[in-house]
Amino acid sequence: MKKQPRVLIVEDESAIAELIAVNLRHNGLAPIWAEDGVAAQRELDAVLPDVILLDWMLPGQSGVALARKWRADARTKGVPILMLTARGDEPDKIAGLDAGADDYITKPFSTQELLARIRAVLRRRAPEQLEEAVSIGDLTLDAATHRVSWKGQALKIGPTEFKLLNYLMRHAERVHSRSQLLDKVWGDHVFIEERTVDVHVKRLRETLGPAGQLIETVRGAGYRLTAQPAVAASVPARH
Ligand code: CA
Repeated sequence: MKKQPRVLIVEDESAIAELIAVNLRHNGLAPIWAEDGVAAQRELDAVLPDVILLDWMLPGQSGVALARKWRADARTKGVPILMLTARGDEPDKIAGLDAGADDYITKPFSTQELLARIRAVLRRRAPEQLEEAVSIGDLTLDAATHRVSWKGQALKIGPTEFKLLNYLMRHAERVHSRSQLLDKVWGDHVFIEERTVDVHVKRLRETLGPAGQLIETVRGAGYRLTAQPAVAASVPARH
């Protein structure tokens, strides 16, 4: 029998957590509930889940602080995090993504929407593990070890940026539209805005530092990773 994906729900409101858990259980997922960061850490120390649903507003450590902590921890950094937020403001969404969340979903959300997002992050995780290392110029990405390096120097990279870079490097020199990237990298873009791509490209460039100029913005078309970027002067400032 296929293993049921474990979903750690970090949510202090028991009514919401219970509702989510019931729906997940009915759809073949194995929910575990933690009411705060301390309880969640205990669960993570015991068994790693396949995905974490993380509420933004929690007693004690906030969801954003927890996301940042778990991303910095070698044991938990590969576990996808889906932020649950009651806030609709763009800066808050970006703060969540900056903290290392893979995606966010704004309350109130439908069960269908939540399930679609969970399945999307689960799907995105799986395939790239088997692939071999790829190099473009001095930039190397090794999918097997999840490492990225520039001129032999290891770079610290978030999970979504890694997948995005993996795709761009394996399909270099071609221009990809935002919707193509959503389709190929995110897998299920029904509920993800195209602006999300821009946010992650920006973060990817920042992560890559000088190698960030290999990723070109092609006005009106999308993005391209190239071994021969246009003259540095035409690369837009990153801040
Ligand atoms: Ca809450």
